[in-house]
Amino acid sequence: MPARRSVPSILAITATGIAIVALCGPAPALAAPPQYGAGADGIGDPYFPLAGNGGTDVVHYDLDLDYTPAAPAPAPLEGRLDGVATIDLVPTQNLSRFNLDLRGLTATEVTVAGKPATFTQTENELVITPTKKVKAGKSTQVVVTYGGTTTQPTDIEGALYGWVTTRDGAMVVSEPDGSATWFPVNDHPTDKATYSFEITVPDGLVAVANGLPSGPATTVDGKTTWYWDAPDAMAPYLATASVGDYVIDEYVAANGTPIFDAVDPARLGDPSAALALTSDMLVFFEGLYGPYPFNSYGAIVDDDSVGYALETQTRSFFSRTAREGTVAHELAHQWMGNQVSPARWADIWLNEGWATYSQWMWTEHRGGDTAQASFDAYLSIPADDAEWELVIADPGPLGLFLNPVYDRGAATLHALRVEIGDDAFFDLARTWVERFGGRTASTADFIALSEEVSGAHLEDFFQVWLYTSGKPTDW
Ligand SMILES: [Zn+2]
Repeated sequence: MPARRSVPSILAITATGIAIVALCGPAPALAAPPQYGAGADGIGDPYFPLAGNGGTDVVHYDLDLDYTPAAPAPAPLEGRLDGVATIDLVPTQNLSRFNLDLRGLTATEVTVAGKPATFTQTENELVITPTKKVKAGKSTQVVVTYGGTTTQPTDIEGALYGWVTTRDGAMVVSEPDGSATWFPVNDHPTDKATYSFEITVPDGLVAVANGLPSGPATTVDGKTTWYWDAPDAMAPYLATASVGDYVIDEYVAANGTPIFDAVDPARLGDPSAALALTSDMLVFFEGLYGPYPFNSYGAIVDDDSVGYALETQTRSFFSRTAREGTVAHELAHQWMGNQVSPARWADIWLNEGWATYSQWMWTEHRGGDTAQASFDAYLSIPADDAEWELVIADPGPLGLFLNPVYDRGAATLHALRVEIGDDAFFDLARTWVERFGGRTASTADFIALSEEVSGAHLEDFFQVWLYTSGKPTDW
């Protein structure tokens, strides 16, 4: 077959078929049929193997929720949540099927690109098989209709989290992997997305989510719908849609940020003094970390308690009370944790160390203990105390919220500040937010940037503070 010598193999395929190609050598890439496979059931975080999913990148969640809180006692503490989640996503690989995380609620209908899809559910996973396979890079829309009874879910440590049902509503705080208790989600910080919410609740209750109201609430037949839009990219654990008997306070802070506070009337007298400092705190932290990164801020203070506060994005959540130090801590998280989020949950000290150190600096700014005094007090803990046992750069899934992650994390940052000087330290803080803002970063990224900005060799320093058990004595 002499002609074959002069015919490029790509043409030979078209003209004479696959047998010729075999004789011409390897088939060109274009001729290979696309391979489709299943997306992984986890995104690859060793602490939470089923959190997030492989093969998809969510761009936007539109959550249409209808919620009825628990009836008065002695009725069981159970609510009813029905939702339609419209999820815009981009496949990152060719997919024959893929997962979303969903726990404790039942999907009743799923469509992909407008076509009904088949689906199954396991304890943590909604497994979706589209009628037509989806191609890498081609945006598609997934709509999940779901619902069920809500209770009081708990995290791996036994703490309340996720959609926590109360008598007058719900407290919605989902760190680290609790968002799957209220919507189908790619539940890992590495997949940030924008959000919009339409939340229907019994008339008289307020539903407060992230961002700003996108229109006035509407009431029909005894039910009120609240509309929210959160246009800043957000990790799933920072989404909220808390429902309660709230008094709303709206104003504009000194830096121009619109503030929306929602406070349970039973707590009105208590947190107001600390919340009133929000405007001053925004100005203070902008001075340290650069412009406030989001379109709005505010607080939710609920009379019911999960036992902790959380930096839900643009709308920090407080249980029962909002003390000044905690208000500063959650606000500082908006830069440190929310705008720049942990690449893996093992990097949690970057969230909590920065937020705690921010508290120390705010206390100094207010004329209290200096950051140096807070550092000295921490370092006065005896070397044989259990405080020094945890390796904070790898605290384990049960150690995410242990004290050393916070205080040793803050002490690490103060020691770094002393080591490299104020100019380099605050240059590092601002560059960190600028460079990794809107996405995630790891401890390795932080060490590399510290060395880049300061010009110092810091390997030994970070080895002592982050990767070694025991009280630091020499660094
Ligand atoms: Zn925190």
